Amino acid sequence: MPQQRPHVVIVGAGFGGLEAAKTLGCTPVAITLLDRQNYHCFQPLLYQVATAALSPAEVAWPIRHILRRQQNATVLMAEVNGIDATARLVKTAAGNFPFDFLVAATGARESYFGHDEWIAFAPGLKRIEDATRIRRSLLSAFEQAELARDEAQRRRFLTFVVVGGGPTGVEMAGAIAEIARQTLARDFRQIDPRTARIVLIEAGPRLLPNFSVQHSNYARDALTAMGVDVMTSSQVIGCDARGVDLKVGLDNGRIDAGAVIWAAGVTASPAAQWLAAEHDRAGRVIVGPDLSLPGQQNIFVIGDTASVRGADGDPVPGLAPAAKQMGNYVGRLIAARIAGRPLPPFHYRNQGILATIGRRAAVVELGPIRLKGFIGWLFWSVVHIYFLIGLRNRFVVAVTWMWGYITFQRGARLITEVPPPRNPA
Ligand SMILES: Cc1cc2nc3c(=O)[nH]c(=O)nc-3n(C[C@H](O)[C@H](O)[C@H](O)COP(=O)(O)OP(=O)(O)OC[C@H]3O[C@@H](n4cnc5c(N)ncnc54)[C@H](O)[C@@H]3O)c2cc1C
Repeated sequence: MPQQRPHVVIVGAGFGGLEAAKTLGCTPVAITLLDRQNYHCFQPLLYQVATAALSPAEVAWPIRHILRRQQNATVLMAEVNGIDATARLVKTAAGNFPFDFLVAATGARESYFGHDEWIAFAPGLKRIEDATRIRRSLLSAFEQAELARDEAQRRRFLTFVVVGGGPTGVEMAGAIAEIARQTLARDFRQIDPRTARIVLIEAGPRLLPNFSVQHSNYARDALTAMGVDVMTSSQVIGCDARGVDLKVGLDNGRIDAGAVIWAAGVTASPAAQWLAAEHDRAGRVIVGPDLSLPGQQNIFVIGDTASVRGADGDPVPGLAPAAKQMGNYVGRLIAARIAGRPLPPFHYRNQGILATIGRRAAVVELGPIRLKGFIGWLFWSVVHIYFLIGLRNRFVVAVTWMWGYITFQRGARLITEVPPPRNPA
């Protein structure tokens, strides 16, 4: 009687989970890949969906299609709501899935620092639904400004607040400035979209805190030149349907706004709770050097859900290349275990950091290589096209960007219905 193949359950088909599944392609295992959505989302370009430059299908790809040729993998759309580590079961509403090896790769979600009620007024950007919701609120604000009956109302609708000065906040603020100053400049009759106020609020002393001070200053200057009000050392202390309350030094302030976007922080998915595991302040599961859960050799946690330290002792950052490296490592480790071979501990290779500020402006830090301005922007564009999944998406995005570069147009300016704000959990 043939021996049954070990069953590997992978939860989450993001960068980490998908890479783990692909790495196990030639290993004699049966893989079940569970995800609550039927597509893999390329989060680094979500802000382009939120700002009408790209359509959702251009940054997402059906998981089932990606793995269609991998005979040892079964893809199922199911939301995981618990894990029984002792009984080795993954729990979903569609039933329980037993496993021999488990890879938890459920990513992160936005953190409202204990104020989850703010999600109703300040959507974050993690999923396609978030991007279309933000797109709706941005474009609707311009429409409402055109209908406004007085100047105060008009000013409010033409004020956009982005909370958080990391790469996503910088990218969003730059893109909104471009929409207002270029894309929509001549499309309205009652308002001049170029007069829109875009405010980027950062609690820390500088933008892009993970980049060098030089690049952080470059980003601030480039945004300021695009007409963005950059407010550093300013903390949002309240969010409501009409704007945000702030603390700037010892003073309190208020900005009335037509749309508020949240890019201020992330917290890990609830995997630590499911596994009753030790976690860091951001909720990420603290794993061992081989990315396994301490005391549970066959349970691995990877990507944004895991708290791992690199060889230099610094935490491995929540970036797509880091998640992919972890997925690849765990895939190889499972294969090695089955073959009875040892594998050295996980080693993180820093593949650099990139952020774009607008057309012709980006910052890139790749070890000793430092790029900014147009060259940085070209590099950023090529890297993002290269890492997109699917030839069609690469081609469409490249052509769309070229067209947008020449015409300043954004082709996905649709205000569509969106579901009510979801619970961030
Ligand atoms: C707006 C934005 C911009 C970014 N820009 C960059 C960038 O420029 N460069 C970069 O390197 N990184 C960037 N990142 C970070 C990068 O996207 C993440 O580090 C990476 O996606 C982490 O991969 P992951 O596999 O851990 O999680 P994810 O890619 O988030 O995948 C998690 C998967 O788990 C699924 N899932 C979650 N919960 C459940 C559940 N309960 N049941 C079933 N399935 C579940 C989700 O549907 C998802 O498919 C950005 C992130 C965001 C949000």
